[in-house]
Amino acid sequence: MTRTFYKLRLVLMVGIAGGAPTSEQDIRLGDVVVSVPYKNIGGVVQFDMGKRIDGTFQRTGHLNSPPAQALNILPEIKRRHQFPDQYGGVDEHLKRFDNDTRFHRPSIDRLFRSDSKHQGGKSCEGCDSSELVARPPRTSPRAIDVFYGTIASSNTLMKDARARDSYAHDPELGVLCFEMEAAGLMNDSPCLVIRGICDYCDLHKNDEWHYYAAATAAAYARELLSVIEL
Ligand SMILES: [Zn+2]
Repeated sequence: MTRTFYKLRLVLMVGIAGGAPTSEQDIRLGDVVVSVPYKNIGGVVQFDMGKRIDGTFQRTGHLNSPPAQALNILPEIKRRHQFPDQYGGVDEHLKRFDNDTRFHRPSIDRLFRSDSKHQGGKSCEGCDSSELVARPPRTSPRAIDVFYGTIASSNTLMKDARARDSYAHDPELGVLCFEMEAAGLMNDSPCLVIRGICDYCDLHKNDEWHYYAAATAAAYARELLSVIEL
C-alpha cells in the first residue's frame, strides 16, 4: 500500500504473520504487530541469514529501519489507543468488514504448549485441550492489542514452537512474529511492516484466522493513514 501526502511518501507492508507469544508479550490471534527498531535491529530481522550457535542468534544480514516519517506517527497512534472512548481507531475501521462474514472474528483462540503435538486434520478439535496454555480473558475494551518491535522474516515457513520461543526469548532479538515477505522488500524500499497475527507458528497452525488477521492489519493501516491526513 503506497500513498503520497504532499511531500511524504510512505510505504506500508500490510498482511498476516505467525505470532510468538511469551509471558511478557501476551500476543493473541487477531492482534497486530508493527515493525519498529529494537536494540540493534531496524524492525525486521532476516533470520535465515543468521545461524544459531550455542543458542545465540548470529545475524549476518542487515535490513533498513522503517522510514522516520512513519515512526514519527506512531506516538500519536499509541496516545490515541489509551483513550478508546474518544478514538475508535482499529475497531472503527474493522466495521468496514461487517458485511463480509469471511472477515468476522473466529470464536476460538487456542495456544498450545510448545511441546504439544497436533492430532491431524484442519482444525484442533482432536487435540488435547489439557495441553493448552492457560491465559486470562482479555479485559481491554478494544478488539485487539497492538505490539511494536521486531518482525522476523524468512524464506521458510516457521512451524516450530520451540524455535519460535527461542527467537522470542532472545534478548537481542525480541521477535514478536514471523512472516515471509518483509525482508525482500525492506532494503529496496524501506517500509513500515504491519502484520495481523493469524497463527502461533506451531504444528497446530491452520487458516481459520487468516481473514480476520488480514482485516485487523488493514484496519490499523487505515487508522495510521487517517492520522497522517489530519
Ligand atoms: Zn492441533
